[in-house]
Amino acid sequence: MKPFAYARPGSVAEAVRDVAAEPAAVFLAGGTNLVDHLKLGVARPDLVVDVRTLTSREISDLPDGGLRLGAASTNSEVAADRRVRERYPVLAEALLAGATGQLRNTATTGGNPLQRTRCVYFQDVTTACNKRDPGSGCSAVGGYTRHHAVLGVPAALPDPTAPETCTATHPSDMAVALAALDAQVQVLGPAGERTIPFADLHRLPGDDPSRDTVLEHGELITALDLPPLPAGARSAYRKVRDRASYAFALVSVAAVVTADGPGSSTVRIALGGVAHKPWRATRAEQVLRGGPLTEDAVRAAMAAELAAAQPQPGIDGGNGFKIPLLTRTVVATLRELVEATR
Ligand SMILES: Cc1cc2nc3c(=O)[nH]c(=O)nc-3n(C[C@H](O)[C@H](O)[C@H](O)COP(=O)(O)OP(=O)(O)OC[C@H]3O[C@@H](n4cnc5c(N)ncnc54)[C@H](O)[C@@H]3O)c2cc1C
Repeated sequence: MKPFAYARPGSVAEAVRDVAAEPAAVFLAGGTNLVDHLKLGVARPDLVVDVRTLTSREISDLPDGGLRLGAASTNSEVAADRRVRERYPVLAEALLAGATGQLRNTATTGGNPLQRTRCVYFQDVTTACNKRDPGSGCSAVGGYTRHHAVLGVPAALPDPTAPETCTATHPSDMAVALAALDAQVQVLGPAGERTIPFADLHRLPGDDPSRDTVLEHGELITALDLPPLPAGARSAYRKVRDRASYAFALVSVAAVVTADGPGSSTVRIALGGVAHKPWRATRAEQVLRGGPLTEDAVRAAMAAELAAAQPQPGIDGGNGFKIPLLTRTVVATLRELVEATR
């Protein structure tokens, strides 16, 4: 492991100043992702600034009826909170579908959405990877693609040498639920505070796959705000994976359904395991708006959403299976929610 300095400043403001002043500095929260990357040589910072005890660990009510999750609240604490379980079951279910009890006791609200991809090439420093080592190429092209993206992939594909090429997926379950809940990210940075809609926090690879989010260097997540859901809204999370536990999503679905009247609903759908970011299925939402959530309607909506999908071939058989699997998973999730609203 490359040697680095460790700092535990006295305040969040000091922590932000420390990281902003050192280009090769990073924040440390629960450390369940970052420490692995330090050991693997994937992250090679000169300075690690520990914020775990600086940001709030509280889960508090907001005046509009929503909830604020302090950045240091643990995944276990959020999943167990009565208000989260009653008002945002999709979030509790997503958290409990991730990792293990021990990891969730340590992983934090700030760190979870910022965990990095589990792409095997990103984690293996002996291979070319545009995300880890910009401009080095992409080893996933023609390699193992089972866990890779089918939506929002760069136009440079299938050129493995183009610096834009990256088909890594975002791995967080929590982030998929937060995308469906229209969460807001509270940030403190060198230029002050700002609020980022969760849907805009993560980015597609674009011309720089090394950047997962729109956060600038030195910007610290201080809290995540959950807006109140409409009266009568139901929500759920469904994850499909290779093992029943301790495995990342092949695909996942977070959905919120609100009945507007007889035969008419508003639905929010976010997809996981399919893109460089949690994927809000806005086309499918539009197709379904105001209509009945029949199986045929949901299949038609998913056909519209997935029309631009680009499955990747691979030595493991590729990831074309994700297209029908996504549709089936959305159909099953919405069926469950419609039955619950009857
Ligand atoms: C074996 C294993 C299985 C797992 N399975 C799953 C799974 O199925 N589903 C799933 O979703 N996750 C899974 N995880 C990942 C786990 O959920 C994440 O490692 C964890 O949520 C990261 O949170 P942390 O607080 O430990 O972050 P850290 O490791 O401390 O940090 C992660 C990143 O966020 C940055 N960061 C941390 N806090 C802040 C902040 N407040 N502001 C700005 N930047 C910050 C750090 O600099 C770092 O880049 C698994 C992990 C392991 C090891």
